[in-house]
Amino acid sequence: MESLDSYRGGWIEIIAGGMFSGKSEELIRRLRRSVIARQRVQVFKPLIDDRYSTEDIVSRDDRRLKAHSVATSAELLARVEIGMQVVGIDEIQFFDAGVVDVCMQLADAGIRVIAAGLDQDYMRRPFGPMPALLAVAEDVSKMHAVCVRCRGAAHYSQRVSGGNAQVEVGDSAYEARCRACYELYKSAPAEEPAVQLTMPASA
Ligand SMILES: [Zn+2]
Repeated sequence: MESLDSYRGGWIEIIAGGMFSGKSEELIRRLRRSVIARQRVQVFKPLIDDRYSTEDIVSRDDRRLKAHSVATSAELLARVEIGMQVVGIDEIQFFDAGVVDVCMQLADAGIRVIAAGLDQDYMRRPFGPMPALLAVAEDVSKMHAVCVRCRGAAHYSQRVSGGNAQVEVGDSAYEARCRACYELYKSAPAEEPAVQLTMPASA
């Protein structure tokens, strides 16, 4: 992967994979290298993910990078400072579809864009803008977690609790599973309201 450091001008790198696959760690590793190389780096993440809202990314030489939380891809673009050389984006699957064009604009302007995100949701459906990002990126890394059942390479985020919404934030609702160990998730049926068989007597 060190050849990635030999880029000239703008391009897009996507770090994709399931939960617990080390995507964010890999993103931070690459951003730290950029900081050590004295490049100007900015980091963004979607506002929806408030789990680490105050997180600083600290580089080895103790220069701190703050991940800016932004609500939309338009806000992300507006907050990229002039002269920026590297833009990191974490949890990019949560952004709106416009983030693909934003990444293209940044790369066309000569910026190295490094983004990490879930490639599939808990139903194994491609997640949000990820299919388009994987298509337009110059470089794609697929990360794997360890399957909790068989200890093989896990490609899926198995939901093990919660409802059927695509976004269920919280690591405890998921397990890393491989293809053989993945199971279709069915949430427990919602509590049915008691059926009222008779009309209430009017007052
Ligand atoms: Zn397995």
